[in-house]
Amino acid sequence: MRTAQDLSDIDSISWDVAVIGAGIAGSVMARELSREGLKVLLIEKKRFPRAKVCGACLNGLALSVLDHLGLTDRIRAAGGVPLHSFFSRQSGRKLNVPVHEGLAISRTVLDPILAEAASESGVRFMQETTASLNGTTENGCRVNLEQHGEKIVITAKAVIVAAGLAPAILSNHKEFSLEIQPNSKIGAGCIIENAPKSYGPGVIYMAVGKGGYVGMVRVEENHLDIASAFDASFLKQQESPGQAARSILQESGFEAIPGIENAKWLGTPALTRRSDPLAMDRVFLLGDSAGYVEPFTGEGMGWALASVILLKPIVLKAVAGWRTEYGLEWKAAYDDFVGNRQRLCKLLARSLARPIISTIAFRCAGIVPGLTGRMVSFINAPFEFGSERVVKS
Ligand SMILES: Cc1cc2nc3c(=O)[nH]c(=O)nc-3n(C[C@H](O)[C@H](O)[C@H](O)COP(=O)(O)OP(=O)(O)OC[C@H]3O[C@@H](n4cnc5c(N)ncnc54)[C@H](O)[C@@H]3O)c2cc1C
Repeated sequence: MRTAQDLSDIDSISWDVAVIGAGIAGSVMARELSREGLKVLLIEKKRFPRAKVCGACLNGLALSVLDHLGLTDRIRAAGGVPLHSFFSRQSGRKLNVPVHEGLAISRTVLDPILAEAASESGVRFMQETTASLNGTTENGCRVNLEQHGEKIVITAKAVIVAAGLAPAILSNHKEFSLEIQPNSKIGAGCIIENAPKSYGPGVIYMAVGKGGYVGMVRVEENHLDIASAFDASFLKQQESPGQAARSILQESGFEAIPGIENAKWLGTPALTRRSDPLAMDRVFLLGDSAGYVEPFTGEGMGWALASVILLKPIVLKAVAGWRTEYGLEWKAAYDDFVGNRQRLCKLLARSLARPIISTIAFRCAGIVPGLTGRMVSFINAPFEFGSERVVKS
């Protein structure tokens, strides 16, 4: 992977775009802009490979975008596991729904593949470098970079903040406000190397309990990726996230997973949130930094990838010269596509939080499987290329 080892020549370059965060949104966006001939700097604070809390399932929407961009072969070659069904249990009740598309791969493996693809297309990728915004001048946005105590400032004609759920980067910028839903769940996840055989490959297992839900799926090397969303109050009552997950597995009727309490768990801040505005003064928010809804339907990567396609033409115009309308265009395109899907996910997640409704929902889904199938088809529907909102120049 072509990665800059130090900051020496970075500030002498006049960057078209600086992308902050090399998660799925940042790396794919950086690659797309570089393929358009722009000079793109991709900045990541962690060293890759790094783990990340995620259910690891690329759904039909995500795969349709990755396929279109020529990226799925590498993901399959790295051991991505094809998915065929979703199996959920709540208080012993079972729900089994066929899934026609999907691939499971851990973020430890997926994210370096995407960053590498970005590097190959000419993106300059800086790891172990933390970025922060430093205002806008006539020439563009100033971005502070810090790597192992060394600091420099670069300028880019546009900046994309794809820094995930904790964009501390925006906290000094009062223009951007972050609304976090009260009682939002907290995410936590880990990887188990030797899970019981009852958790077979190709199935998304979902244990639903009173304090939240735990998703499990086999990823590359037959490891089991575990990703949970817990009520904050439930989590506080437990000794650890591992204990919380163990308790939900037991309550829902899933087999216990030895070692789950002592696994290396990572956590997230509150999940359900929305940033406003989504763009200002050449700075665009993308992926989880723009907004997120708890992961019950496992769509975040699909939303992030579809957003790359929707945002790209707007960024290309903003590089040529900033106009306030570009922020409004981005918000309209985002609300149209991602906002609608997030509302459905929120509705489903809310119904789970109400025991009576979730019991009825589980029964109905079992009795009328066509209904559930239609919902799964909607969630997995491929991105319709060419149907993007036409952006006027
Ligand atoms: C419990 C759980 C389960 C989930 N399950 C699924 C699932 O099965 N399927 C699915 O599609 N989605 C799932 N998601 C959602 C998915 O993980 C996210 O939507 C997706 O990762 C968003 O990508 P992103 O690129 O916006 O952010 P991220 O992937 O979080 O990447 C952000 C990157 O920015 C870096 N960064 C942050 N700040 C800075 C800075 N100042 N300077 C430089 N770098 C910085 C971070 O280190 C990170 O690498 C799940 C989420 C959770 C919490």
